[in-house]
Amino acid sequence: MPCTRRQMLQAAAMGSAGWLGLPLPGQSQTLEESQAELSRHRLARFDMHRLRDRFPRRVGANAHGSVQNYGGSFRVRRVTTDQGAQGWSMSYQDPDVFEPFVGARVSELFDLATGIREEARPLDRILHDLVGHILRQPVWQLLGAKGPRDVPIYSGSIYFDDLLPQNGERGVQAVVDACQQDHAAGYRAFKLKIGRGRKMLPRDEGLQRDIEVVRAVRTTLPDSRILVDANDSYALEETLRFVEATKDCELYWFEEPFEENADDLRRLKDAFDRWELPTRIADGEARRESRHRQGLPPGPYGDYTDAFVEHLLQLTEQGLVDVLLLDLDIVGYSRWRQIMPEFARLGVPVSPHTWAWTPRPFYAAHLASGLGNVEIVEGIPGQAEGIDYTAFEIKGGLLHLPGTPGFSLRLTK
Ligand SMILES: [Mg+2]
Repeated sequence: MPCTRRQMLQAAAMGSAGWLGLPLPGQSQTLEESQAELSRHRLARFDMHRLRDRFPRRVGANAHGSVQNYGGSFRVRRVTTDQGAQGWSMSYQDPDVFEPFVGARVSELFDLATGIREEARPLDRILHDLVGHILRQPVWQLLGAKGPRDVPIYSGSIYFDDLLPQNGERGVQAVVDACQQDHAAGYRAFKLKIGRGRKMLPRDEGLQRDIEVVRAVRTTLPDSRILVDANDSYALEETLRFVEATKDCELYWFEEPFEENADDLRRLKDAFDRWELPTRIADGEARRESRHRQGLPPGPYGDYTDAFVEHLLQLTEQGLVDVLLLDLDIVGYSRWRQIMPEFARLGVPVSPHTWAWTPRPFYAAHLASGLGNVEIVEGIPGQAEGIDYTAFEIKGGLLHLPGTPGFSLRLTK
């Protein structure tokens, strides 16, 4: 990457406060210069590709019973400006929403201090990548560089591999092998899906298998972090039995044991206290309602209803939920920029839900490094054909954020 003296001075001036996300006194000139640079680019064309993930192994079911297999497919959109700059991202949007933006200046659509402008919302993450390339900045720096460059990450792909027919008699060992495969790829934290008794096994047998799996992984990887996720499938009584049976396994967090409610969560917290366990409670991924279904446009938390988030925040205030798991894209990229400071002020860390497409953990990692207040990122081992991930490295359980422009993922199509 070419580096002029001016760029070096700019980089030095950014420091940890990050002038782009939060301009420092006396540096408005530089911000204006950057905005002026964006105004020299007009969006010229979009192209679309469909990519397919390839997980490193077949991934089993979760408590709801759907086998994850080798990963799914997804669409990406790339934009090219009249100056030849490009940005791209995974995108859920229909093709016709992009055409009206052809000819617009980047500066009309994107504000360096806040992100995408409301009318250009479908371009949100694509323009973060593009702006990063135009200004030669990684997204985490555009966001303010408030978090660490090395972001804790866990493997989110430890499902019920013991129940895949192909694993036959291997049983619990298949799950241990999955952890070891991800350990070899640099992960040191593993989220084990539990809740086999909801659909896949008789209720009690399922609980016993869940316990057996946790104990086997703890024995095999004594220094790892173990997280568990029941996808709201446990009854309170099963949750308490599970906690007692794994109380020497030092679980890092318990995710969605049952649908969040203060009474049951208090009983669970009491059990943690009784056994003096450090286990945290992570919640807020699954929801019953959406603004879309209520006929409402996206709100401050994207498609999450205000009532849902307010309930979660009440639970955090009561000390009953420790980490929020709102989905990366149900919220929306620029909205994270607005709400993260609010969560940080309340002392509530988040870990945006990213399953099940491999680019999403990297987008979440840029939020973690850029905005801070992300406890750990949900990683998805594997790669999509057509994406070059080699700028990133996971080592010792940490994902290192590169200094290259945009999201540092390269589209090779
Ligand atoms: Mg979950």
